[in-house]
Amino acid sequence: MKTIKHLYIHIPFCAKVCPYCAFHVHRGGGDYQREFVDALVEEVGQIKEEYDLQLETIYFGGGTPSLLSPGLFEKICHSLPACLGEKTIEVNPKTVSLTKARCWKEVGLNRISLGAQSFNQGYLKILGRDHTPKDIVCSVEILKEVGFDNLGIDLMFALPNQPREIWLSTLKQALECQPTHLSCYGLTYEEDTPFFKSLAEGVWKKNEEDEIWMFSETEEVLAEAGLPFYEISNFARNGFESNHNQAYWLGKDYLGVGPSAYSTVGHARWQNLRDTREYISGIRSGTSTKTEVERLSPEIKRKERWMFGLRMRNGIAMDELQEFSTVIDKMILEGLLNLESQRVRLSSKGRLVADCIAEYFA
Ligand code: SF4
Repeated sequence: MKTIKHLYIHIPFCAKVCPYCAFHVHRGGGDYQREFVDALVEEVGQIKEEYDLQLETIYFGGGTPSLLSPGLFEKICHSLPACLGEKTIEVNPKTVSLTKARCWKEVGLNRISLGAQSFNQGYLKILGRDHTPKDIVCSVEILKEVGFDNLGIDLMFALPNQPREIWLSTLKQALECQPTHLSCYGLTYEEDTPFFKSLAEGVWKKNEEDEIWMFSETEEVLAEAGLPFYEISNFARNGFESNHNQAYWLGKDYLGVGPSAYSTVGHARWQNLRDTREYISGIRSGTSTKTEVERLSPEIKRKERWMFGLRMRNGIAMDELQEFSTVIDKMILEGLLNLESQRVRLSSKGRLVADCIAEYFA
């Protein structure tokens, strides 16, 4: 039996779907959520039989896991195997109440990832979010009151026509909440979303100069505030780095349950059906909910490990990159990589173009 240490749980429900979101998410009320939770519990039972689950991290993502009622959430948690490590839930500020926060605490969650995105009301509206800056601050107060001291806030920058000072003010307000972790991602215009359409039609334009400025400024402001980057889009106080996300970036095996969730075990990767109704019927009828299994060659595994590894503060041991020594030398000369103590990392210039680094290894 294969041992698995990391589990992702996908909850596909959202109160409304944001116009930039490309995840498998949709609306759905009481009965639909109950049917889904029953299927999910069944799937957890299946993986318990198939794998040796020695869990070190559990991550409830979505969608909006915090939308579930305490009763449904407890039902999922009671089906899970023990996990003494990090247990995270993604939380939408609009859904936080004292009752829910207490429930999350009682079932053993110990890390919050709060999807604030912006502290500017105008931009929250543009992003189609249903919460206000005040909801974010109130959520933080409630979560701290019930004892969540490991609290991360997720933000987005490079929003349509976003002035630089509005991003700086969002960063400042996020820091006032005293988070242990911040994730700051530039907005991406994902295909098949209303935002993508607006970009294609010229309603909005990207401003690369502003994006680069915001990215660099973020790193500087957060480092000064005691949250240095540990991955190019993630910043944490010492000891509060996300273990679950690091497991992905370090190429560890993980299982995902719920519709659309990915799993990677050894040299196999698969996704669950990206349709919640089909997923529920698959589980009920005992047919497979996996889509086609992708075989990952050792070469693909190695490349993924380098791509993610270079984005991390610790970088990669030079030994692991021997076969690319010519490319590495070229990138060092171009100022994209630093070599220090036999480890290779993206330089500050390299971090600005991190998404294009893969081309060098093609
Ligand atoms: S709340 Fe999050 S998961 Fe749900 S639609 Fe918006 S961005 Fe997507």
